[in-house]
Amino acid sequence: MTAYSSEQLMEMEHTYGAHNYHPLEVVISKAEGIWVEDPEGKRYIDMLSAYSAVNQGHRHPVIIKALKDQADILTLTSRAFFNDKWPVFAKKLCDLTGKEMVLPMNTGAEAVETAIKTMRKWGYMVKGVEKEKAEIIVFTENFHGRTSTIISFSTDPVARDNYGPYMPGFAIVPYNDLEAVKRAVNKNTVGILVEPIQGEAGVVVPNDGFMKGLSEIAKNNNVLLAADEIQTGFARTGKMFCFMHEGIDPDIIIMGKALGGGVFPVSAIAANKNILGVFQPGTHGSTFGGNPLACAVAMAAIDVLVNEKLSERSHELGNYFKKQLEDMKSDKIELVRGKGLLIGVVLKKSAGKARIYTTKLKEKGLLCKETHDWIIRFAPPLVITKEDIDFAMKQIREVLA
Ligand SMILES: *Cc1c(COP(=O)(O)O)cnc(C)c1O
Repeated sequence: MTAYSSEQLMEMEHTYGAHNYHPLEVVISKAEGIWVEDPEGKRYIDMLSAYSAVNQGHRHPVIIKALKDQADILTLTSRAFFNDKWPVFAKKLCDLTGKEMVLPMNTGAEAVETAIKTMRKWGYMVKGVEKEKAEIIVFTENFHGRTSTIISFSTDPVARDNYGPYMPGFAIVPYNDLEAVKRAVNKNTVGILVEPIQGEAGVVVPNDGFMKGLSEIAKNNNVLLAADEIQTGFARTGKMFCFMHEGIDPDIIIMGKALGGGVFPVSAIAANKNILGVFQPGTHGSTFGGNPLACAVAMAAIDVLVNEKLSERSHELGNYFKKQLEDMKSDKIELVRGKGLLIGVVLKKSAGKARIYTTKLKEKGLLCKETHDWIIRFAPPLVITKEDIDFAMKQIREVLA
């Protein structure tokens, strides 16, 4: 096989791939743990973790072993037949979430779609909402994926423009505003779809009590609360799921990203029987959802999170990292926010675009991605050590202090 240089690969991608991303100018051809390497052999710390899909670190040996072992036995059956992995994974995910049932899909957006369909169907079949009238409350600056339904209720013109006609049935209210949610609830409201922290919006952390307030509004009005934990889940924010910081129990938990352990797309929603019981055979599905390879990988991915206590680690090291960022003297930083190892550094407008700094950090061996033009997200794999963070801080100080 021809070994291409980074330069050649970026050129090829630009020529042959659609330009729906604007990657940082680095090509990754190898990875292990928190480290990634380019074809020329330069090493970098991954500070993005594929948008939190690699919480367990790149190519975690336990997960890779599960992948290889399962690949030697059975990979895909479709759910026209039972297989010997999906039931075991379903039980494991129920135990982890405290819910009675799960429905497996592949990508995050599919899990969100599944949650939307669940809330609507529950609305018609259980709550008794008039046909075609169901409404779901969503929030400004939300990010729930890229399907035509999901972008219909995005408030980001970049994600939304030129994709109409748009799907009706969503009421958009300001994030972090419980009064606005109360005003938006009506007899047709079937659900509230929310990110416990808005990752893509720039690690926007709502006030303490926001999720709890939503949970109460949902209960008082016979409305389902669906927590999109695709980015915030699986130990990223210092708890297994971010809603746990508020001690609540959302009706629907939407999971993806790190459920696949950084190797495979695996997503699912979890809920109790009175909710997920609305599905009958044939009413929803996915050819690859619940495939044995995905299930084996996801079970290993969960084992790693639990056995290596990555929630605790994320909590402790996140506080350590965040404090150092906060204490750093910098005329470029407006504020630092986040929970666990999901941290956003908001730059002052006078500092110029975040891309300037992510490019400089790349030169120093840290791969970070800007969100919007003025926020840098730090979300390394949760297997990072204190020493790695010290090394990272040294580079960050040189660029931002
Ligand atoms: C990434 C993400 C999604 C979409 O997941 P895909 O696997 O990219 O479809 C949905 N919601 C949130 C909060 C996400 O971060």
